[in-house]
Amino acid sequence: MSAAPDLLRTPPMEAAREILRRVFGHKDFRGLQGDVIAEALAGRSALAVLPTGGGKSVCYQIPSLVRPGLGLVVSPLIALMADQVAGLQQSGVAAARMDSNVDPQTKAETWRRIEAGELDLLYISPEGLMQPWMLDRLKRTPLALIAIDEAHCVSQWGHDFRPEYRMLGKLAELFPDVPRLAVTATADNRTRDDIRAELKLEDSAEFVASFARPELILSAERKKGGAQKRVVELVTARPNRSGVVYAGSRDGTEKIAEALRQAGVPALAYHAGLERRLREERLEQFLEADEAVMVATIAFGMGVDKPDVRFVIHADPPASIEAYWQEIGRAGRDGEPAEGITLYGSADMAWALRRIGERDVDDGVKQVQTRKLRQLYALLDGTGCRAAAVRRYFGEEAVKPCGQCDLCLGEVETTDMTVAAQKALSAVHRLGGRFGRGRLIDHLLGKTKDVSDHEAGLPTFGIGGELSAVGWRDLIEQLLFEGLLREDPNDGRPLIMLGEADGVRGVYRGERQVSVRTQAEPAETVRRP
Ligand code: ADP
Ligand code: ZN
Repeated sequence: MSAAPDLLRTPPMEAAREILRRVFGHKDFRGLQGDVIAEALAGRSALAVLPTGGGKSVCYQIPSLVRPGLGLVVSPLIALMADQVAGLQQSGVAAARMDSNVDPQTKAETWRRIEAGELDLLYISPEGLMQPWMLDRLKRTPLALIAIDEAHCVSQWGHDFRPEYRMLGKLAELFPDVPRLAVTATADNRTRDDIRAELKLEDSAEFVASFARPELILSAERKKGGAQKRVVELVTARPNRSGVVYAGSRDGTEKIAEALRQAGVPALAYHAGLERRLREERLEQFLEADEAVMVATIAFGMGVDKPDVRFVIHADPPASIEAYWQEIGRAGRDGEPAEGITLYGSADMAWALRRIGERDVDDGVKQVQTRKLRQLYALLDGTGCRAAAVRRYFGEEAVKPCGQCDLCLGEVETTDMTVAAQKALSAVHRLGGRFGRGRLIDHLLGKTKDVSDHEAGLPTFGIGGELSAVGWRDLIEQLLFEGLLREDPNDGRPLIMLGEADGVRGVYRGERQVSVRTQAEPAETVRRP
């Protein structure tokens, strides 16, 4: 352990705290960090779900420094690895990375340090780690810990599935005595179950932090025409503050930044099409300014840590609730109130759905992306507390309304759909969870094609004449979102099942209302490049 040799004889948690102070410069552990680290120091594997910015990295870095042997960090992105390793080296930690961008000479030197026991942390990609010769060599090396960063990548139901993560399941068998720590910022219940099953963590502790960010004030509004004018209104109504505006295209960022500048706002555009030097310059400018608005594509974000961002505005919506929360989460890092405002429209959703359809990925992945997109729109267009919806989505239970989002403050009109919801839930019940959405809707509408006598004889068959197929689809979406229904993956042919029993009972009894937002003007005029 090269970082602090004098700590070798101190009890592990003391040593961990000392390293947190000395190496990382933090006074004390935050949230669940201490618990996760204690688990790893006891030599036990674990799954930790901590929100973005929650300080996931020290959870595996510190045990790697305290325990004897090398800490392996499996990470999906070379750029992120390079950042982390550079940061660690600056703090005096013996860290290195092993990936395709590292030259042979540096690699040889890294191996020398590993074999001499001089290295504390090695960052590596999953495919790099799982090469047979690499595993052989590492089997002869004492290991402190194997950290699996962005562990949701192992799950088809995560928002960023990476097939190469699947191989990591073998680590349990290959290194039975080394604690494995899977960490992620985003894992709904199903993704979490998947991670545990795939990474053989069934018997390990699970640490799930609260996703609450009480300083964030959420709102969303339907676009009326293009978003640019509305963004200018929103930003100019918030003078002398720093903010981020996310736009869906490079061109969009340039145009919105220009419109903001014309309105007197110091705005900068940022996207992957800009020269690297220019990007760095603008990032620097933004980080240093007391008052600047960055108009960016999602290329902007990773590793950006500006504490005083007072608002994040989505001129175009993101693709999932994970992305939504991550992007809005860049506001209010200092704990002071900050706003997350999302502009959305049905045209945005249609466009995003089309893009998913065109992607060169498995159908299963497309289905997941589609589902995640729809869940986001159910949130944006929903009627219940937004913050509570996000937290439930991430698997938190017994969540209370935030009392400060636009929906808690009651600024939208909604229609009570409890009766229709009762019908949908009874139909799912009668059908015993054997159908997907399309068939469920056919059942409610009493469509007779391919219907068995048994089904046609059920009391719920054809009871849904009051809504169109689209109306039912929206309502089912809402019910899925509220956890009253759930979707079982069933190997890519999802089936709709009843959700949370208490909630369903409440709806049957009329004690719990289901309402959907009243449809606004249908014609929207958003155009995409
Ligand atoms: P994540 O990977 O969970 O998004 P990081 O590990 O990058 O988060 O940490 C986010 C920020 O929080 C970093 O700036 C880090 O220095 C800071 N941080 C981590 N742990 C602590 C702590 N115990 N006290 C204060 N700041 C912390
Ligand atoms: Zn709320």
